[in-house]
Amino acid sequence: MSYEPAKRLARLHINLEKDLVGVRLLYEAIDTDITQPDRPGAQALTVSAGDVELQNVSFAYDDGKVLRDVDLKFRAGTVNALVGPSGAGKTTVFSLIERFYNPQKGRVLIDGFDLAEATAKSVREHIALVSQDTFLFEGTVAENIAVSRPNAGREEIVAAATAANAAGFIAALPEGYGTTLAAGGDTLSGGQKQRLAIARAMLHDAKILLLDEATSALDSESEALILEALDRLMADRTTIVIAHRLSTVRRADCIYVMDTGRIVQSGPHDKLIAEDGLYARLHALQFDA
Ligand code: ADP
Repeated sequence: MSYEPAKRLARLHINLEKDLVGVRLLYEAIDTDITQPDRPGAQALTVSAGDVELQNVSFAYDDGKVLRDVDLKFRAGTVNALVGPSGAGKTTVFSLIERFYNPQKGRVLIDGFDLAEATAKSVREHIALVSQDTFLFEGTVAENIAVSRPNAGREEIVAAATAANAAGFIAALPEGYGTTLAAGGDTLSGGQKQRLAIARAMLHDAKILLLDEATSALDSESEALILEALDRLMADRTTIVIAHRLSTVRRADCIYVMDTGRIVQSGPHDKLIAEDGLYARLHALQFDA
């Protein structure tokens, strides 16, 4: 009587072994650190003013340089725009400032401190990122806002949401701040998700703000609410925007034009538009009114 079940058990073992190989591969992938680890003796970054600088930076992911001798100076409290064709290296500049990678040549400095000597965790505490896709997880609206500061009190969360022009739509949800969102936040509109991202950044209250402007068009009411919220968020921070809107580049203190890993022009809008260069061409083609 035990023969047949024993045979089945033996087969089960083979199946398990096969699946375990898959599981092991999965864990290896999950455990791989996609960013560069901290150097031995790395220190916690402290930020007071919020000056950000790239000094003579060259960088390649594997082979083929993505940034070549890039010099960038983002002064504390200013709004700076990065513009340029797709693939120019704008997102890579963000990745270096967030210390996901160290440059092969040159230095990235915040308040004069070389990020290669700082712990990644401390760098990210001083940087808020608002990107095109907002990652929302399954949890309440309040939890989704407080992800940058999990011990924040309800009043702080509400203040951040209010400043982000999100309080109105949150109040209209079935259970307000206690409403559970689905992973990905599919029940919310694109504009609402962006305002939650701004609320998150408000609560994070970092000195340095990296903003990847949405390329997709929003309805004009949403857009006005978002622009107003962003104005509040940018105050007293060093802002660096990957810019797609004409209104953003016009008001930037300094625009850096990137092309195939180099900075080809820099200055305010009026100066750049007067030069016969890439900016004038991008201006004619790329920016939304
Ligand atoms: P932009 O933001 O201006 O569109 P990116 O910084 O995203 O430019 O990309 C610059 C170049 O680096 C592109 O050629 C892109 O294909 C390459 N690149 C970007 N990210 C990676 C990566 N993680 N690994 C390898 N190459 C990458």
